[in-house]
Amino acid sequence: MATFSTRFLGCKVSFADAQAIRERLLRDGHVEVGEAGEIQVVNTCCVTHEAVSKSRQAASRASRSARTVYVTGCASNLEGAFADAPENVVVSGRTGDEAAAFVAGDVGAIGCVDATHRLDRVRAFVRIQDGCSFSCGFCVIPLVRGATRSRTAVAVLGEIRRRVAQGHREVVLTGVNLGCFRDREAGYTLARLVREAGATPGLERLRLSSIEVNHVTDDLVGVLTGTPTVSPHLHVPLQSGDDRVLRAMGRRYTAAQFERRLAPLRDLNLTTDVIVGFPAEDETAFGRTLALVERLGMTKVHVFPYSPRPGTRTADDDAVPVDVKRERGRRLRALSDALSRRRWAARVGSTDRVLVDRPGRGYADDYTPWLVDAEVGALVTARAVGVADEGVVAVAA
Ligand code: SF4
Repeated sequence: MATFSTRFLGCKVSFADAQAIRERLLRDGHVEVGEAGEIQVVNTCCVTHEAVSKSRQAASRASRSARTVYVTGCASNLEGAFADAPENVVVSGRTGDEAAAFVAGDVGAIGCVDATHRLDRVRAFVRIQDGCSFSCGFCVIPLVRGATRSRTAVAVLGEIRRRVAQGHREVVLTGVNLGCFRDREAGYTLARLVREAGATPGLERLRLSSIEVNHVTDDLVGVLTGTPTVSPHLHVPLQSGDDRVLRAMGRRYTAAQFERRLAPLRDLNLTTDVIVGFPAEDETAFGRTLALVERLGMTKVHVFPYSPRPGTRTADDDAVPVDVKRERGRRLRALSDALSRRRWAARVGSTDRVLVDRPGRGYADDYTPWLVDAEVGALVTARAVGVADEGVVAVAA
């Protein structure tokens, strides 16, 4: 038996990777401890230069207290990213279930099975596919996670039932490019999977982590708006609101197509990702991004200052000065904050269910943050009474 700890950097896919490793080690009879296990797993991210450098720092910090550190996830596949890591750092070069199998195999099992161990999060992230077969010019993800491949619908639906039985109130379907999910043999599209997942007995709330606009089909829109357990929230990466920049990025839509596809979902809480300072982005192009985000009323914008990634088509391009990127990022975040507050203010006087995931705070059905006093893990009905910087102020109804 070994003591272990896991941590992740980056997105929900990285969280799901870390979760798979953690569960595998628990199942094998190892004991989870706070930060400083004999075995420490760092599931890494490489979406930006900064993410890689934070991943490197996390591995090196862990190496000071661990017997062995396993570096897994996206950045572990990036050539040379951990070349100067300390001797007790093992770079797995694997993601997802392969990473879990590698770490578990290397640590060794003691055969004491604890399959019922409940994760301490109130929501569970269930991976439905991995990899991406698109080729956006700036993105390193297809290089480190490979082409798209889906889990079977049976496996996904079974895992959701298991998560609900473990006590999770909310399930988030995750993947690198969720809309690529297909189970051809069993006849499942994403829309069918979401419909059936949403009907899981005992499940309170189902969300999609993120979806490309090309995959927002009429079928999916029907399921998103017609399944009571499905959260009225959608995260759709925009990246830019300018057609010339979108073309240079290798994205597969125009700004007008993006807007048209989301038109039937205007009542949902829409959130997005935007890259600022892409080489082809001038002030006019950035202005179009601001205008589109505003027209769509997107509440939360995750702003990524462009940083060239090795091995991508735009690896040698970084034309926009750092201070300009910083300034555009600041303007976009200010707009995002204003749009959030507008949506929050419109909720005052209404009630919603809030899943409390940390002291004094949780998320309503539409994934807006609500500040309410209730036990962590509780799903409470609350009434909105005001707005603060961090979200809707509410009291238990
Ligand atoms: S859709 Fe584009 S940005 Fe998203 S993972 Fe695939 S290549 Fe990267």
